[in-house]
Amino acid sequence: MAIDQVCGMEVDERDAEFMTHVEHETFYFCSKACQECFEERAGIRKSGPAKWWQRILKEPKDTPPKCH
Ligand SMILES: [Zn+2]
Repeated sequence: MAIDQVCGMEVDERDAEFMTHVEHETFYFCSKACQECFEERAGIRKSGPAKWWQRILKEPKDTPPKCH
């Protein structure tokens, strides 16, 4: 099991829907809200080339996490 770095929930990486690759690490999240929060904190969405998940994510970036 992986740990959601935003809220601390356990996430099963085998059927994880929300994940972000940073450098050589993969982070898993319980919800898109947590994923966006992580990316916001990591500064991923502010710089760097567009990644596949940036094209998929279309929600406002300032939405706070409301995963559970
Ligand atoms: Zn979460």
